[in-house]
Amino acid sequence: TNKTEGNTNKTEGNANKTEEDDKDDKAAQSLLNKLIRSNLVNTTNQVEVLQRDPSSPLYSVKSFEELRLKPQLLQGVYAMGFNRPSKIQETALPMMLAEPPQNLIAQSQSGTGKTAAFVLAMLSHVDPENKWPQCLCVSPTYELALQTGKVIEQMGKFYPEVQLVYAIRGNKLERGTRLQEQIVIGTPGTVLDWCQKLKFIDPKKIKVFVLDEADVMIATQGHQDQSIRIQRMLPKSCQMLLFSATFEETVWNFAKRIVPDPNIIKLKREEETLDTIKQYYVICNSKEEKFQALCNIYGAITIAQAMIFCHTRKTAGWLAGELSREGHQVALLSGEMQVEQRAAVIERFRDGKEKVLVTTNVCARGIDVEQVSVVINFDLPVDKDGNPDNETYLHRIGRTGRFGKRGLAINMVDSRFSMNILNRIQEHFNKKIEKLDTDDLDEIE
Ligand code: ADP
Repeated sequence: TNKTEGNTNKTEGNANKTEEDDKDDKAAQSLLNKLIRSNLVNTTNQVEVLQRDPSSPLYSVKSFEELRLKPQLLQGVYAMGFNRPSKIQETALPMMLAEPPQNLIAQSQSGTGKTAAFVLAMLSHVDPENKWPQCLCVSPTYELALQTGKVIEQMGKFYPEVQLVYAIRGNKLERGTRLQEQIVIGTPGTVLDWCQKLKFIDPKKIKVFVLDEADVMIATQGHQDQSIRIQRMLPKSCQMLLFSATFEETVWNFAKRIVPDPNIIKLKREEETLDTIKQYYVICNSKEEKFQALCNIYGAITIAQAMIFCHTRKTAGWLAGELSREGHQVALLSGEMQVEQRAAVIERFRDGKEKVLVTTNVCARGIDVEQVSVVINFDLPVDKDGNPDNETYLHRIGRTGRFGKRGLAINMVDSRFSMNILNRIQEHFNKKIEKLDTDDLDEIE
């Protein structure tokens, strides 16, 4: 298999993880987050802006009309259900649409509107009369490229003169082809080949270059080098845009190599809190008893959508099987599945086709389950040394923003060991976790 393109058929919790596995994890997480999310993250933090030229005025817009978009694009934006720009879009869009074009490095957590912003910028900058590639967007994996492509297609729905082509593995074009599409989206290796070796694209004619998910991209040394080689083929006048969900030193160093003279926009990650969450625990003596307790509360939890976390794949598989045997319709998300399969499971769950998703602690690590209002820890999250994994607990159960929906968390305790973990989690957050009697459910309803 071609590991560099996001084939995540690997073992979970493997101690000898390679760089590629790590990158696959990041890419898979990013994809699953995109798929599970159907709207913007609530943000209460303010954007931080560093202008290349601090003396020039800083524009920010509160409506899409103020941007003077082409009517076809405004129509596309509204058809997607967007009423006003997101926090990051308020400042990023005027910068990206300014004349002459300005370069931008933008960092904000997943779900804050980065993709929608650069898609709008690309669509605004193309000249549909010109039948050659003018915008180039690189994504870390095949799946992420497809996902961004879908956004371009949706937003450009009323602008059919603008065409899109995918530079991804498997898309083989005849030698000597000269692309007519105005927008090219792909993975770094294929894009580089299409520019350099195969000459399907004339890089000198590119007006906008977007590098998406820079933090995932740099997890693979090869992608970093390919991206830099692509960037070097572009004209000086080309607008360079780079996006990242996180910003460690390494991402920053890479960003500065890709984007000369940048404006910089940063939006701090929203703090997660347990304030709006009702936390409970249930005492059991075995896996089977936990299953029984779960059946007792099943009616109450499936009023909303629920996610159930298990420590191992084996338990997750067993539990999903038992629940199905009881006649419940549940989905299983497991680490041995290919990323495409995982994506399909997440999409079905997001669309409400299944109300309950059973998964493992490792597989769902880093996935934002904000939409889900009931979380069951069938096993409590522990790290590899057997200590409470407070960070995972918070990420899984906590909510962001002041307006975060109320949620419900139920922890299953089945031993003295897990009771101790629960107590330590409770102490760590200084938030009471109440005992729940599953034979008497008035409490949670
Ligand atoms: P990011 O790239 O930062 O992860 P996206 O651009 O994918 O964020 O946006 C996250 C979600 O919010 C998507 O479902 C997208 O359709 C939606 N979205 C983006 N911008 C807006 C907006 N201005 N108003 C409403 N929804 C938006």
